[in-house]
Amino acid sequence: MTAARTYLDYNATAPLRIQARAAMLAALDLVGNPSSVHADGRAARAVVEKARTAVAALVGARAADIVFTSGATEANATVLAGGWDTIFLSDLEHDSVREAAKRSGARVVKITATQHGTVTADQLTGALDAAGGGAFGMRDSAFGKALVCLQYANNETGVVHLVSDVAAVAHAHGMRVHCDAVQAPGRVAVDVAALGVDYLTVSAHKLGGPKGVGALVIVDGAPLPSLIAGGGQERGRRAGTENVAAIAGFGAAAALAHDALAGIDHLRTLRDALERGVVDATPEAIIVGRDALRLVNTSCIALPGLAAETAVIRLDLSGVSVSAGAACSSGKVGHSTTLAAMGLAPEIARAAIRVSIGHATTHDDIAAFLAAWKHLTSALARAA
Ligand code: PMP
Repeated sequence: MTAARTYLDYNATAPLRIQARAAMLAALDLVGNPSSVHADGRAARAVVEKARTAVAALVGARAADIVFTSGATEANATVLAGGWDTIFLSDLEHDSVREAAKRSGARVVKITATQHGTVTADQLTGALDAAGGGAFGMRDSAFGKALVCLQYANNETGVVHLVSDVAAVAHAHGMRVHCDAVQAPGRVAVDVAALGVDYLTVSAHKLGGPKGVGALVIVDGAPLPSLIAGGGQERGRRAGTENVAAIAGFGAAAALAHDALAGIDHLRTLRDALERGVVDATPEAIIVGRDALRLVNTSCIALPGLAAETAVIRLDLSGVSVSAGAACSSGKVGHSTTLAAMGLAPEIARAAIRVSIGHATTHDDIAAFLAAWKHLTSALARAA
């Protein structure tokens, strides 16, 4: 028998919700292609459209603006490949945004983050001033077709940005705005209209849906060429037969995540208990981003002198899954551009682990983490 494990890595991926699993299993039995006009096709189409409505409700979008993709990476790639002359972004963005920007052929202009790990309207104005020079109008035209990318919340620290303020500045300069909102839905109320962005990306597996499906929201017909050409699926915006089962699971998870927002304070209580327990056990521990507006589910914890790799491996041996920095893509512990962009001292950045909770997390999970943390840190203290 394998011992029960404590899973606290929801920002990497969340466990599949049972209702999402059930919706997927039911959809697997549908024989039709959603593009077919016969009854079998229409049955598959109905499942896709029900999911589209649920995903739209989760982010306050119109159902017609939702384009299903193979995940947020593809959705981000689609936006970044949109034929931009200039792309503005900070080092806080996820690799799927930063790498796609590098490949896009556009001039990439860096926005400097604040030491709290945020990008504000002032930071964007600073980047415009530094990159453009000259008079207001001349400067804007020098950027050509321009895009500003700003994530909703950071995957490593959970720090939330005031996207609507930044979007207002970008629009005043005639630029389009993309928001990678992967870490936000189900953890905070997301409303595309209030954000005022043109493109928004979400991923099913961060909210209890399956891996390998996501959505791109193209708000009010904002111009964007499709990345994948072929059939006319998704109203010509993303070719390829829809992954009906995955989309069904996404829809079920989105509906539950939306409903769960009402009880989101429960997560805050658990997160606060975890952070209190860590600081009580190890007063030298630093909670990165503690004073910033943060998601309720994310703790980025650094104990100077305890390397993140060591902490992750030792916690794993105690049955607790957390990650080091942004390890969700590679599985290896790399250099964190987010923590570097915040100006954190390298010895603190090297020590940062990420503990992220979600829909199935219990008080017992927090207790298990704290027991493993105390075991690990007291062994270190004895060895010192
Ligand atoms: N953006 C952010 C902020 C993320 O955290 C992730 C997943 N780690 C992605 C994009 C990529 O999402 P997906 O796994 O659906 O491709």
